[in-house]
Amino acid sequence: MPEPADTGRFCPVHPGVPAFEVCTRCGRFLCGDCSVFREQAWYCPACAQRMVGLFAGSWFAIVAGISAFVGLGCAPLAALAAVLALCDLAMIASGRSAKGGWKLDLIALGLSVVGLVIGVFLIQRLGMLGGAASP
Ligand SMILES: [Zn+2]
Ligand SMILES: [Zn+2]
Repeated sequence: MPEPADTGRFCPVHPGVPAFEVCTRCGRFLCGDCSVFREQAWYCPACAQRMVGLFAGSWFAIVAGISAFVGLGCAPLAALAAVLALCDLAMIASGRSAKGGWKLDLIALGLSVVGLVIGVFLIQRLGMLGGAASP
């Protein structure tokens, strides 16, 4: 860890506490309690949180993952999740989206396929039940 530098400013969260670092990502002043050292740089807690693991990926992938999860019992949502995940993978390929998101996209795609299978299975079951009930 580098030695704390004196910025001559105060922490916005803790009034009166001198800030010794600036968040590498959002540029806000940080005191000792507010600073998080990660990847060779200082970050505020909010920015450090955003860098954690899979969620360094894009919001597109996260939406696709949630849709896929919900879509486990509903085929149309699973199809939507698959489209979102594929869109994001295409954006990652062309460099317009965060690289870390591809893992989440693949998880979303996997969940989508499972959701589609369960959805088709349920529709078939319902179709059979409906067919049995009506003449
Ligand atoms: Zn920050
Ligand atoms: Zn502070």
